[in-house]
Amino acid sequence: MTNLPAATLAAADFYDKHYVGAEPIFLQPGMKLMLGNSERPRHCRFCGNNEPAVSFRDEAHALPAAFGNTGLFSNYECDTCNHLFGEGIENDLGNWSKPMRTLSRIKGRNGVPTIKSPTTGKGWRVEYTNEGFQLKQYEDDPFFEIDEEAKQISSELHRDPYIPVAALKGLVKIGLTLIPEVETQHFCETFNWVRDTDHTRDFVAELPVIRTFIPGPMRNDLIVLMLMRRRAGVDTVPYAFFTFAYGNEVLQVFLPSPSQDKCIHGNPLTLMPFPAPGALYPARHGQPRVKVETLTGREPVRGEKVRVVLGFEGS
Ligand SMILES: [Zn+2]
Repeated sequence: MTNLPAATLAAADFYDKHYVGAEPIFLQPGMKLMLGNSERPRHCRFCGNNEPAVSFRDEAHALPAAFGNTGLFSNYECDTCNHLFGEGIENDLGNWSKPMRTLSRIKGRNGVPTIKSPTTGKGWRVEYTNEGFQLKQYEDDPFFEIDEEAKQISSELHRDPYIPVAALKGLVKIGLTLIPEVETQHFCETFNWVRDTDHTRDFVAELPVIRTFIPGPMRNDLIVLMLMRRRAGVDTVPYAFFTFAYGNEVLQVFLPSPSQDKCIHGNPLTLMPFPAPGALYPARHGQPRVKVETLTGREPVRGEKVRVVLGFEGS
């Protein structure tokens, strides 16, 4: 612990004083975990309906399959809500997160996503195969910049269209799936908000997503999820958040609870990022980088570019 940067130690201390964490879930291939009991009649925590008014035939992923989840499911999401999320906010979250999932080599239902030039016909392409990353470009349309000395390739990948606040709802929905049943009473408005297909509705003023990018090679088949709740007696920080680490990225997402967050109303959030695991080879790849994303836009974002840098081996 002593060789950790001071900021990491300060963050660890901050979280220790203000929050209590649940046991993290380490999701690895071959593991199967079902959240909630399977007693009948089942109850859907998202819409509040019970069997037989709603059915529970489909497997409800606690985390979308796009992030590589093949083992974490819940018993408390009905088929109606499952389809609503799958056809809506999970697509926005999928498009928003796709460049990072490709770079982290995260295998969804159809393998690691390929990113292609938005122009039809011949164009650049970033694809991950058994031989590693395959980058294609055409001479008359150069797309990648190659830095032989630094052994890096950089380019600007494009993002498929997404509505920022819908992607945010997709993230919050994951957290709402992870909270224990006893906590659901504090999130009634939040359940309604994530289900609402009207993305223009006001909800909470500030809802940042803290992204930490961990450079260098990272496992692409391990997902770590952790839920944190404010300690009793503390009233200066938001009530709950969760962190979600996959590939090279750690996302820290607040779970807004209008009733429990009343005490911090009017005060700007002064949270520090939850300490992320360090890079495997910081000397070679650099330290983790933190960015705060404000995913509150309500209009579709088209043609957004994401700057990426890939390292390569060899001479
Ligand atoms: Zn439902």
